[in-house]
Amino acid sequence: MSDIIHLLPDNVANQIAAGEVIQRPASCLKELVENSLDAGATHIRILVRDGGRTLLQVIDNGKGMSPTDARMAFERHATSKITQAADLFQLRTMGFRGEALASICAVAHVEVATRRPEDEVGTHIEIAGSEVIKQEVVQCPVGTNIRVKNLFYNVPARRKFLKTDQTEMRNITTEYYRIALVNPQVQFTLVNNDEILSELPISSTKQRIEAIFGHSSKPFTSHLVDVLANTEVVNISGFVGKPEMAAKNSQQYFFVNGRYMRHPYFHKAIQTAYSGLLTADHNPSYFIYFDIQPDAIDVNIHPTKTEIKFADEQVIFQILLAAVREALGKFNITPSLDFTSETHIEMPQPVKQPTTIAMPRLQVDPSYNPFKQKANPQARSAAMDWEKLYAMPTPEPTAVQADQQLFALPEITENIALMQWQHKYIVLPSDKGLMLVHQHRAHMAILYQELLEQLREQKGISQSLLFPEVIELSNEDVLTLQSLQQDLQTIGFALDQLSPNAYTISAVPIQLGQTNPCDTLLQVIHQVQDTGASAAQQWQEAMALALADRMAIPVGKSLSDVEMRDLMTRLNEKHSAQYLNNGQTIFTILTSDEVQKRF
Ligand code: ADP
Ligand code: MG
Repeated sequence: MSDIIHLLPDNVANQIAAGEVIQRPASCLKELVENSLDAGATHIRILVRDGGRTLLQVIDNGKGMSPTDARMAFERHATSKITQAADLFQLRTMGFRGEALASICAVAHVEVATRRPEDEVGTHIEIAGSEVIKQEVVQCPVGTNIRVKNLFYNVPARRKFLKTDQTEMRNITTEYYRIALVNPQVQFTLVNNDEILSELPISSTKQRIEAIFGHSSKPFTSHLVDVLANTEVVNISGFVGKPEMAAKNSQQYFFVNGRYMRHPYFHKAIQTAYSGLLTADHNPSYFIYFDIQPDAIDVNIHPTKTEIKFADEQVIFQILLAAVREALGKFNITPSLDFTSETHIEMPQPVKQPTTIAMPRLQVDPSYNPFKQKANPQARSAAMDWEKLYAMPTPEPTAVQADQQLFALPEITENIALMQWQHKYIVLPSDKGLMLVHQHRAHMAILYQELLEQLREQKGISQSLLFPEVIELSNEDVLTLQSLQQDLQTIGFALDQLSPNAYTISAVPIQLGQTNPCDTLLQVIHQVQDTGASAAQQWQEAMALALADRMAIPVGKSLSDVEMRDLMTRLNEKHSAQYLNNGQTIFTILTSDEVQKRF
């Protein structure tokens, strides 16, 4: 029998690797722009056509490549950035694997023109299916100009998997803003189908944030306060939003050593710093930049992943918490806060504090780590909730429910007495104990299910507005809105584009009643952005949840017996789980045991 094992040809191996590194136009663009940054560019121009499927072009003024390097760059594991394993621990560049260009040229037609400052002339190379088909000398400016055409032309499955151009463009801009926010020292231009979408001059970080999120009528950064902490472990700088801007426009960004990252644990530190300052369901905006010794983080992450591991996570949690508290305190946003837990408890509560549940102060305890509280199911569920919220992609709702559904709703018969408490909870007896149902969230759960049904069956009911409203949006918001527009219309919104950044709203879903349509739409857009949802179904869920939040009866509304019964009966029909899709608790039980202990 002859041997059957053989090495794969390079082009096949590269195409397989490409499946990992280059998932969609946005990931391709990220790799190209990171290369330009690594090459020291101060101006990066990005041209996109048809959501990136026909063209992605990046033009930089970086250090360029020699003729040999230009050819080498497209080989697998070809990199100028590290030479030995130890270099991995001193990494300050974005790339290091030498995989990106090899992967891209396996699944696209690539063309590059590049010149170093010391060279008279540049090099032009054309590659298709990993094969160099042309190399010649050209006249070109210093820097690198790379064109990626017909992405996935030879991988039909991938090509089919691409979403609409709008969606791919939205992913591209998300990636673009993440990079731009941490590189204000670089000028960026983003052009989509010949239209300039974004032009960002070299600026300070704060100006960069303003340029991205502000619009003329509404300055964004005036609501931000500085955060600064220089310690031996880590340097932290950046901004957090004043509590009053929370939720309306919640932008949450962490960066480490020039890289965007997600970090649910540090997110928790920020939430903790705000505890008592925000009403429930409101999220603070933040832009936090960590600068840390490269060997204190695990850089060897997957190129498409955004989670990064830190060696001193718990210490950094405390530093971040203190820094954000200090920032909020300094600007008199909170009564001046001290960082030790003892003095803290004695402080008068800020006015906004809704109740005196003394829960978040504990977390100043340096040993606090939500990951480690496995023994206590409630604490664990709290940790799971936010992990779940910020995990990518949007979590499966059933996962938490199966694991954590501790109690079931009783059937609401005529004999069961219902009572409203604090205009917030419905209290009722159940065989396990005294049940408390959060009225707003219960209604949210019902509406959420109804909205999803309407989307499935394509039958929302719309209510015309007497006076159409005009909503102004940032570029990023416009893209999000465009990807949601079809679904929004299905459930009852009538939207027309007035100008590139403005829409008229002439009808809304009937369930919205008198709720402000512009605020509602903004909240939906931002919440969808916050979840990082990337597939149509995930958007629908994020959108339905945000809408349900706006439509649901508020906390503070007094309910009649009939209304309470109706709410409970519908909840029983529509949603029996104890948690909302975003992890929030809908109802809980004060068990008979717990009550007994008090007597
Ligand atoms: P990595 O970035 O991990 O090193 P890539 O495949 O992305 O791997 O790039 C391979 C090499 O090509 C880089 O190490 C760099 O030397 C060179 N290169 C790529 N893009 C550029 C650019 N825009 N300017 C200068 N050199 C580049
Ligand atoms: Mg690279």
